[in-house]
Amino acid sequence: MVEFSLTKRQMALRDKARKFAIEEMIPVAEVGDREPDPAKSFNWELIRKADKLGLRTLSVPKEFGGGGADVLTLSMVGENLAYGDLGIAVAFDQTWKIMTMISHLTTARQRKKWLPRVMDDPECLLAAAATEPLSGSDSILPYNKADGGVRMTARKKGDKWILNGEKRYISNGGLANVIYVMARTDMRKPPLKSMTGFLLTSDTPGYSVTEIWDKLGQRNVANGTMIFDNVEIPQADVMGTPNGALGELGALLTRFGSNIQAGATVLGVAQRAYDVTLQYAKQRVQGGKPIFEHQIQAQRLARMRMLLESARYYLWYSGWTAGQGEPDAVAASLCKVNAAENSVKVLMEAFELWAATGYMKKNPIEKLLRDGLSFVHSDGTNDVLLLKASNLLGEIKRGDPRYSRRVELAAKGR
Ligand SMILES: Cc1cc2nc3c(=O)[nH]c(=O)nc-3n(C[C@H](O)[C@H](O)[C@H](O)COP(=O)(O)OP(=O)(O)OC[C@H]3O[C@@H](n4cnc5c(N)ncnc54)[C@H](O)[C@@H]3O)c2cc1C
Repeated sequence: MVEFSLTKRQMALRDKARKFAIEEMIPVAEVGDREPDPAKSFNWELIRKADKLGLRTLSVPKEFGGGGADVLTLSMVGENLAYGDLGIAVAFDQTWKIMTMISHLTTARQRKKWLPRVMDDPECLLAAAATEPLSGSDSILPYNKADGGVRMTARKKGDKWILNGEKRYISNGGLANVIYVMARTDMRKPPLKSMTGFLLTSDTPGYSVTEIWDKLGQRNVANGTMIFDNVEIPQADVMGTPNGALGELGALLTRFGSNIQAGATVLGVAQRAYDVTLQYAKQRVQGGKPIFEHQIQAQRLARMRMLLESARYYLWYSGWTAGQGEPDAVAASLCKVNAAENSVKVLMEAFELWAATGYMKKNPIEKLLRDGLSFVHSDGTNDVLLLKASNLLGEIKRGDPRYSRRVELAAKGR
């Protein structure tokens, strides 16, 4: 039986997010977008306001006071926040997905330490750091030889680990005060057998953020370079299975919702482009009538609608499978690729219809287009996610996801 109806809670959260996007985010998003210094663009007031509505901690389990939302619900909320601004939506979405991962991969003692920390500070955001100057896609499509992949090292010293290295482009870098980072415990072994995940706070000695990257879009969120200079992390803050972090990153992308939620946020941008374009097409007169009444332009809007809705249903299906604890790992990758591709197509159709007016900063399309392009690469390049999915084709059966099984086994070991 196929079910498309949303629960009352999902509808209420979706509407709350859309209202927040329209009333709180859209009026200020342009200010941050135009701020020339990327280290100054972030709007903390929005985080505090959203926190009061329970949006910041939506994925924290209910037993710890959070919203306990699943991947499907988070996707819907993320799409509607991104309707207001993609950068700000990403600040929330990163926090949600890493929180989901922490909730699943930590021990009971670790949850008692980390979850209240996130709950109690209304400005607490999270970041996940994998990408480095010499290692990007190698963590998404695991390159499994010792000479490649993540170069950050973790050396054991007594009951502590000493981390050294550099991460770059990290969303919420410079904003987050709880960070999940992956490092190699043995450079002689391939990344699949030598990467471990660690949790730390941003005030840990030796940790610093040295650059906030200036970027084309998503200008309302920071992407930082993180430096780890002899950072000491206690054994108690190792997260997940020692040397199993690369598999767990795969689980973050699939079972813990990262790719699905990423696809949903970029779709929010495209949805807004569609809405403002439909309005513009009805009001702009050329050739003696509103351009919407010229068949080719009406057809353009129908195409945009088709691209949006087909992307959304694929995301919902993938989110639903993740919520069942049996993610369809192929769909989880492909639904992000599809959402990013469809969104860019929708944005280009909007750009075409708005013509010169869409090129001007005074109007919304220019920013939406810049924002939307970010997810062609963020959360794994579309090319690499297609490769990852193609590697799984024929190898994987529904309910038998390669990445999540590794996580299940790790969980059973405790
Ligand atoms: C806005 C934004 C936010 C981000 N946030 C984060 C974050 O929070 N945390 C984080 O860790 N990272 C983050 N990233 C980094 C992102 O995950 C990487 O950019 C991405 O994984 C690709 O790595 P790269 O840019 O180094 O490209 P590369 O890996 O150098 O890829 C270059 C080109 O080669 C292709 N390619 C790579 N490997 C293969 C292969 N095996 N076969 C065929 N083609 C291949 C790619 O598709 C691409 O076209 C973010 C990036 C952006 C743009």
